[in-house]
Amino acid sequence: MSSARRTRLIIVGILLYGLFLVLWAMVLPVRTRSFAAPVLLYHHVSDNPAFSQPTNPAVSPAKFEAELRWLKENGYQSVSLDFLMQPVPFEKKPVILTFDDGYRDNFTEAFPLLQKYGFFATFYLIPKNMDDNAYLTWEQARIMQQAGMRFGSHTVDHADLNQLSDERLRWELSESKRVIDAELGEPVSSFAFPYGYYARDYFPFLAGAGYKTAVTEDRGLATSQDLFRIPRLIVGPKTDVPLLLSMVQKVMAW
Ligand SMILES: [Zn+2]
Repeated sequence: MSSARRTRLIIVGILLYGLFLVLWAMVLPVRTRSFAAPVLLYHHVSDNPAFSQPTNPAVSPAKFEAELRWLKENGYQSVSLDFLMQPVPFEKKPVILTFDDGYRDNFTEAFPLLQKYGFFATFYLIPKNMDDNAYLTWEQARIMQQAGMRFGSHTVDHADLNQLSDERLRWELSESKRVIDAELGEPVSSFAFPYGYYARDYFPFLAGAGYKTAVTEDRGLATSQDLFRIPRLIVGPKTDVPLLLSMVQKVMAW
């Protein structure tokens, strides 16, 4: 082989390898985006200091609005928990917004802001508390549902699952789902563990009751692995959401 021919072959080889790297770099983020998303966990959205407990932090409406504005300006789009189940290519940056307990201010404060910025969230309801003063009414939940908000179960009465017999556990999972499905006229498929407590033993019970996903209070990024143990990023009054998601963004290579 002449040296000119060998040089040409080496150049073609380098070009092909370069092309392979470019294609791989293009495909990789699409695949990564399809399989993972940050899940933010909120409780109250309120200026009332009485609502802010370490376990149920309150974020002020102004802070919540600033976070939604930042998400929008930075190319994020709401997806539901189902997103983790189906690996579809996604052009925008996915974010899953969740609210635990179904407080009244989720309707009066959070819902209008979510609509204003074009996001939706999943609200985990406690049927026994619905229509109570501090909690959503079923009518409010239906209004939110019609505007694209999603719902899930947080047990019938916010039970600590660790303390329950198998029979009672089965009831908490199936009865809460039965009531929410009937009130909203649409089956829910996601569950949030009260206090974030869970055990692997519960997973067959969740599947048996018809749930497809369950969210915890473990810190981390949600992926398609372990759909009954989805970690979340808890947002409180001092949480810097842009900083948190900028860090996530680096991991995700968006
Ligand atoms: Zn809770």
